[in-house]
Amino acid sequence: MAVAEVARPTVLFKTDFTCPRCGSCLVFIEEGDNVWLGCDRCALYVRMSKRDVRRYWSYTSRRVLWRDLLRDLYSSFREAAD
Ligand SMILES: [Zn+2]
Repeated sequence: MAVAEVARPTVLFKTDFTCPRCGSCLVFIEEGDNVWLGCDRCALYVRMSKRDVRRYWSYTSRRVLWRDLLRDLYSSFREAAD
């Protein structure tokens, strides 16, 4: 029997934010205790812990405010890419 070890579920999707360095679409990655936004081409990523992601939970709409989360990650990314 083959054993495939999948330690943690990973979510990955392309965003419509673009890298200020190369113009590629940034990817959003959810992995373990962290989320990341970054550019695969430049190998540059910014990280946020899921503890901090909770700040974006909306109790009224009972969902994460992804737009706000991504916008803040993107502004950190732009600073990092500077
Ligand atoms: Zn890039």
